[in-house]
Amino acid sequence: MTMMTMFKIELTPKAKRDLSMIKAYLSQFYTRTPKKFIKEFNKALESLSFSPWHKKWGGKSGYCRIYVRDYVVIYIVDEDTDTIHIRRILHSKRDFSRGEDIELMEKNAEYRPAPKYNHVYGPIRSRRLGNSLGVDMVPHKTCSLDCAYCECGATTALTTERREYINTDAVIAEIDGYLSGCAAPPDYVTFGGSGEPTLHSGLGKIIARLKEQRPSQKLALLTNSTLLADSALRKEILPCDLILPSLDAVSDDVFRKINAPAAGIDCEGIIKGLMALAAEYRGQMWLEVFIAPGINDAESEIALFKETIAKINPTRVQLNSLDRPGTCGTLGVATRASLESIARRLAPLAVEIVGRGVDTPPASP
Ligand code: SF4
Repeated sequence: MTMMTMFKIELTPKAKRDLSMIKAYLSQFYTRTPKKFIKEFNKALESLSFSPWHKKWGGKSGYCRIYVRDYVVIYIVDEDTDTIHIRRILHSKRDFSRGEDIELMEKNAEYRPAPKYNHVYGPIRSRRLGNSLGVDMVPHKTCSLDCAYCECGATTALTTERREYINTDAVIAEIDGYLSGCAAPPDYVTFGGSGEPTLHSGLGKIIARLKEQRPSQKLALLTNSTLLADSALRKEILPCDLILPSLDAVSDDVFRKINAPAAGIDCEGIIKGLMALAAEYRGQMWLEVFIAPGINDAESEIALFKETIAKINPTRVQLNSLDRPGTCGTLGVATRASLESIARRLAPLAVEIVGRGVDTPPASP
């Protein structure tokens, strides 16, 4: 009979510091999430102690990693002492491709790796898309909306102008460079980032080139739907495998409160664009509705949502909530119960809840 080795787990001082910083960060926004995170973290360590993942990732340095929610736990297995040393616990959106970077981070807590790419980030573990390689198509916060819930900060360039904000060939070269060198292709190459990707006039060329060079690579597009009334743009995005458009309001006063649009954008134009896209598109369309308590969750707005979404007829509807701090500090977080109630009211539409929500509304500041 083979005896199973159980590894001891040790956290370095820096990992302990990371953990307390994560707890402090989460406590600012949620009451129960920090406890839940610690529970999941401990569970992950427990399973690791029976079966460390020996998938080396940091080159010669021998670093391994596992994910707990949005965080990556970086560790080393010492087989001589049967010990797993947890070195750092960091947010997974950062680019930690090399073990050397982690060694530098261990020497200097403020060190952050230089980005290898300018327009490509990740891949990140996405709840909806699995392993997703992100492509940032426009300069930071160039967008046609200035949403109260945006995680990337306030929009600094509010515009509806489509143009080549970033050299199209440079974006193609970066995506190609990443995909040619990666051990396993990501589940999706996702056009998204910290602005509205459809503002880039080269989007169609990039999608066409990727599909020509790598027909089996799935492509996803995250869009705020504001430019979908443009038939030329709709044609450009048809080859995507998955389009995730947003629709956070169906009446203009609510739309302005939650999405603060650029001049010339209104709900009617967005809805028309979404309906036109749904009629032309053969891929999956997952329509995201961000629920902002007290702004777009009134009975009348939900009834209008139901009527409008039925006309658009997306593959599915995804209800989202504020899971990270948004631009507007006073924006509330939808409770799990309210998300479930809205999902029931939208039935028989195919609705799923993708936001975490909270058990009880956070106390007002
Ligand atoms: S559309 Fe997206 S990037 Fe633009 S402000 Fe809204 S959340 Fe942020």
